[in-house]
Amino acid sequence: MDRELDGAPLTAPLLELDGLTVAVTVAGRSVTVVDGLAFALGTGETLGLVGESGSGKTMTALAIMRLLPPAARIAGGRVQLAGEDLAALDEGAMRRRRGRRVAMIFQEPITALDPVMTVGNQIAEVLVAHDGLTRRQARAEAMALLDAVGIALPAARLDEYPHRLSGGMRQRIGIAAAIAARPALLIADEPTTALDVTVQAEIVDLLLELQARLGMAILVISHNLGLISELADRIAVIYAGRLVEIGAATDVLAAPAHPYTRGLIAATPRIGGPRGRLATIPGMVPGFAESAVGCRFAPRCTLAFDRCRSEVPALAAAAGGRHAACHLVAAEVGP
Ligand code: SF4
Repeated sequence: MDRELDGAPLTAPLLELDGLTVAVTVAGRSVTVVDGLAFALGTGETLGLVGESGSGKTMTALAIMRLLPPAARIAGGRVQLAGEDLAALDEGAMRRRRGRRVAMIFQEPITALDPVMTVGNQIAEVLVAHDGLTRRQARAEAMALLDAVGIALPAARLDEYPHRLSGGMRQRIGIAAAIAARPALLIADEPTTALDVTVQAEIVDLLLELQARLGMAILVISHNLGLISELADRIAVIYAGRLVEIGAATDVLAAPAHPYTRGLIAATPRIGGPRGRLATIPGMVPGFAESAVGCRFAPRCTLAFDRCRSEVPALAAAAGGRHAACHLVAAEVGP
């Protein structure tokens, strides 16, 4: 599969965020909602970006896609995808990368699908724009894509409108449209949150199957560690716009290094686990306009000490190749 586009071949790592900073203007004031985020994602790999609502996950995804809302902007850092900085591209060049290099599926695909366009036309549009197919070829390919994402009777579905379909079917169509131009990177933002449990499992299986078949990397974004654990090779935990822990999914889940990750895991229900009240992390993610001195988790952290309230903890290596931004982790490992 030729993934070269505008003269820029793919190189590893596929995606590299380097100090990504996103700011939003609120009441005339600029507030930082993603604060110096840095991580990399290899070709064909799945990285799970996890955190509570309001942690900056979706803003990170929209910054990569260059689809931030009007009040938000990339205020610093780079978004290297396949060796080029998406943050520095003009809108025309970025439009050519969307779909082909990077595509996104959303929590509620109805927001991404055009309600007045048939399912077949929405997918065909991507194929005509990126692959230069004729309308007839694009329709045949759209039907094959519907089949590939598990839509029964695909020929009949081509002429339906999204609102007539179930949530699970709409998400499958959102996935079909996203993979139509065979993107190197698929961003999945809460892809199963709006679906019932059985359909959630089907969508997870579909994403894994498509990834194995197409070799694309996936950045899956969720507050749900259960979903992340089923999909991700590595996990990045984000809190109040900052990366607080990153490592192999099995290591992070089995032995989380950061107190916030430990809280998230304790608050995640286990299938077949004992019933009863789940632990919760007391308090809330701080508002972005609030002062950002020291560790942003300090007001909720039972282990906080004086230094936590005055000094931002740097990401430090922890056992097992993980990295965590906590003064206690840095003290354990030493200089
Ligand atoms: Fe808790 Fe301090 Fe570590 Fe932050 S740096 S997570 S407040 S112990």
